[in-house]
This record gives sequence, structure tokens and C-alpha cells, in this order.
Amino acid sequence: MSKEKSNLITIPKEKWNNTVESVGWDEERINNLKIMVVGAGALGNEVLKNLALLNVGNIFIVDFDHVEYANLAKSVLYREEDCGKENLKSSVAARKVQEINRQVKVMAFNGDIRSDIGLGVFRRMDAIIGCLDNRLARLMLNRQCFKVGKPWVDGAIENLSGELTVFMPGTSCYECNLTEEEHKWIHYELGCFKVAMENLRLGRIPTTPISSSIIGAMQVQEALKLAMGNTNKSLAGRKFNYNGMNNVIELYELDGLEKGCLSHFHYDPVYEAKELSAEMPLGEVLDWLRQHFKTNDPAIKLESEIILEVFSRNSEKYYPVMMPHNKFTAEAVEQYMDGVDDEISVSTRDGMVRKYLDKNFPFLDKPLTELGIPRLDVMRVIIDGEPQFVELTGDISFLTFQ
Ligand SMILES: [Zn+2]
Repeated sequence: MSKEKSNLITIPKEKWNNTVESVGWDEERINNLKIMVVGAGALGNEVLKNLALLNVGNIFIVDFDHVEYANLAKSVLYREEDCGKENLKSSVAARKVQEINRQVKVMAFNGDIRSDIGLGVFRRMDAIIGCLDNRLARLMLNRQCFKVGKPWVDGAIENLSGELTVFMPGTSCYECNLTEEEHKWIHYELGCFKVAMENLRLGRIPTTPISSSIIGAMQVQEALKLAMGNTNKSLAGRKFNYNGMNNVIELYELDGLEKGCLSHFHYDPVYEAKELSAEMPLGEVLDWLRQHFKTNDPAIKLESEIILEVFSRNSEKYYPVMMPHNKFTAEAVEQYMDGVDDEISVSTRDGMVRKYLDKNFPFLDKPLTELGIPRLDVMRVIIDGEPQFVELTGDISFLTFQ
């Protein structure tokens, strides 16, 4: 990555530039915006607070954790009485946003960005703001945004410093700008979902409410520029780095797109199938695809493979299971066995890991939600060897801001 330092110079008072550029943002348009905020930790709190104060009309809040005492010192929205396993960050944050501004509509979503949010939700957003604390989740967010061509604003904080980056599908990409070491670490996390989930839960990076306040505010500003059509004024394709200890601000140019990057897959055009929902059994969905596309053997390509069998090294036995690979942990397998067994691995026998759902899948009666396909998702369907992108538009009522 080329890191060009901006020339920070001290300007004498007689040469100060006091002109203020008019923003020209239309209040009505701001009231109609839909913005997704991924992560409701320290940074997410600051972002949500600003969106509420700016009267942004609709906010989709994603997090998979609950409020803990450790969050209180750094998170502007949470109070002591909000702590506890029953108090999900997404729900508490949504309630607090409405305490700040009753005009703002919210939707709280408790889930994992990797697997639980349908692409149809991303498609309907004006901008997406990432307030995440780990690379794997950022990578997944980047891939989802690229699929539907939505820019996203990444923020990161550490001690008195922070940075933000605006990634534009088609021109700048999180995955293309990872260092070799970051690639290696993500590869390890992808291979070991248990490690990844443990890392997601540990907010290990020391932060201050000051840096999250600065970076969170700038993230909102950049997201609004994107949503309001001021892309040429935005940080698109650049990283803004703030060093609070030394008062240094630097702008870095991002590298361009690399060939072969797995993030660059784009779902276009998307066919909106109002007849289909993720609550429908797989068999019915395949029937509809068969009739609609006039084909004999449609197949849905999965984002996360389905595991149909696991092997226990302790008992040297195979156990039938049915779970998406990204939900695979010893604890998740427990429901199919007598107790927790840490020596569990995915079976390597033929046909026990499926990448496609087709007429030969043994559980045609299972709804898509149980097969790792979330509501309002856009499925990659293979019709006569060619991909088609079919949205489960029958789930549209799921996306309701209130
Ligand atoms: Zn890339």
C-alpha cells in the first residue's frame, strides 16, 4: 500500500481560510435514508447517536452480543441497568436512538454479519457503516457490499488513534488492501470458526471514548456524503488516519483492484421473486425455480456448505447432522450427540458436505432458513450451467422500520 503523508503545515493567522462550503443536504432526503450500522460497540454507539441527531430516517442496527459492564465506560448509549445477557446490544441501542429522536425509525437485528442478513437488506440501504473490531467480519461485510454494489465506510479505533476508509465496489476493496499477514490470519480464522467466534466476542483493542467519538462522527459524515450523492467529495478509495497523541492526520491512497480477489463477485441482475420466501421448504422453492426458469434441475449454490455428517475421534463414530459450516462448533453438534465432544471434525466421506441444494438433497422438507439462507437473501441459482440471482422478495415485510 502506498502511504503518502499529507503535508501538514502550520498556517499563520493572516492566511487562515475562513470560507465555509455549503452542504446543501436536503432534510427530506435525509429523513428518507436507510442506513445500516454493523456493530453496536463503542464506535457503533457514536455513529448511532449522530445518525439520530441528524434525523436520518431509518436505521438498521446489527449486532450479535449483549451489553456488558465493560461496555459502559466507552459507549454513550448504554447504562448500568442495560447490562445482562437478556439485553441485546442491537435492541438496547435501537431504544436509545429513539429516546434521542422519536422521529427516527429503527430495526434492531441480533445476528452475525457473516450469515444471518439477506443480501436484499443490503440492496435496500443507502449506505452501510462498519463499526467492527475484527478483520474477518470486515472481510465478510466487504464481500456482501460488493455483491450488491453498495459502498461502505469502515472505522477502526485504537488508544488515542483511529482511521476510516471508504470502500467503493468496483474501484476500491478491503480485501485487496489486506497485508499478507492479515490474509494469513483471516485464512486461519475462516478455517476455524470456533476461534473466529471467540475473537469476535473479545473486544481486546484498547480504545478511548475520544477516538471513537472522532472516528464515529467522521464515519457518519462520509456515509451521508455517499447517500446524498457527494461521492466526489468523499474519502472513496482513501484511508483517513488520525493520530491523536501527535495531532497528525494522514490520507493514504488505497491500492486498486487485484485480479482474482474473492470480494469482486457482483450479483447482477437480481430477479425479485415475490413468490419465494426463506420460510418455504427447499422442495417447494426448487419446484418454483423449475417452473419459472423452465429447467429440469435447478441448483442453489450455498455461501456456506451444509454439513450432513461429523466424525468423533473419541468414539470413532460418524454422527448424522445438518448444519451450515459457518455454524459448526462442538456445542452446536451436541444436539445430535449425547454430550459435548471436542474431538469432532467434519466427515470427509463422499456427499457429506454439500455446496449445492438440488433435487438430490436429502432434506427437501426443510425451510431455507435452516439451510443457512437468511430471509430476503439473494440466492445464486444455477440454471442450465449459468448463474441467476434470485431474491426471496416474499420476505420483504421482514425489513420493517418502526
Ligand atoms: Zn478485492
